Amino acid sequence: MSVPISYANSVKNELARVVSSKSCCQTAELASLMRMGGNMVIGGNRNLGINFTTENAAVARKVLVVMKQRFQLQTQVVVTRSRRLKKNNSYLVKVIPTSEVTELLTQLGLMREGEIYSGQDKAFFRKACCRKAYLRGAFLGGGSVNRPEGDYHLELVSSSEEYGKTLVGLMKYFNFPARMTDRKADYIVYLKDGDAIEAFLRLIGASESVKLFKNVRRVKEMRNRVNRLVNCETANLQKTVDASFRQVENIKLIAKAQGLASLPGTLREAAEVRLNYPEATLQELVEKLGGTVGKSGMNHRLRKLEQIAQALTGGK
Ligand SMILES: [Zn+2]
Repeated sequence: MSVPISYANSVKNELARVVSSKSCCQTAELASLMRMGGNMVIGGNRNLGINFTTENAAVARKVLVVMKQRFQLQTQVVVTRSRRLKKNNSYLVKVIPTSEVTELLTQLGLMREGEIYSGQDKAFFRKACCRKAYLRGAFLGGGSVNRPEGDYHLELVSSSEEYGKTLVGLMKYFNFPARMTDRKADYIVYLKDGDAIEAFLRLIGASESVKLFKNVRRVKEMRNRVNRLVNCETANLQKTVDASFRQVENIKLIAKAQGLASLPGTLREAAEVRLNYPEATLQELVEKLGGTVGKSGMNHRLRKLEQIAQALTGGK
């Protein structure tokens, strides 16, 4: 049974195909990916290995290729099929523990002088190209974004508060209104603004996904505008109905008190057409009279009838 692909996964599929041309950026992206989805494991001879977990096959493939081709490390992939419906498979990329892994971890800023290091990795933020690649890695490793049809929401989930703060700082550098909150053991860096999400996706290289996002947004905003117009028309219609109801009451009152025959010809004509067509708009009443009077003339006559009725009830 196949699970329908989510928007977040299609963004990741696109980003997994983006390969930085510069090695500085490749390292920055991998550093961020490992901080989001990687764990260190200790193997034989006390060598360190890495376990990287993701639910996206294309992301797993990307990590695998970089580890193998660029760093010549031994890898293994374990796929865990989910027994639950509508739940994705999980991919575990295992980097087999060897002494070379320590070297990689040092390059990625996760180790310093043989010790595990969990502080900020500012080395990757010196160049603008690397900052973008770093954010792309964060999204690939722990990001998610709502489909644009729903509420605007993009998030980067990390188990480290320090790392969450680093991401907020990096996003603020690009003027994104990023905020952080915690949920159980996780720290969530998020964006809630449609424009910001669009700009973020573009920045990290998801240009095709941005196009889709923009199109859906345009349709959604147009629909909202139409709804507003309809609401406005409904309000106008209500006003017309209320006015007509009041006019009919006035005319009935005059008819009862003194008879419509007592009115001057033009007013009697107006009173009769209103009584005959209580749902008609002012324009329609004018048309019923064959255009012998304009809208403002008709309005004037109806107002006159109202004054007569008010005089009859003593101004109440
Ligand atoms: Zn770079």
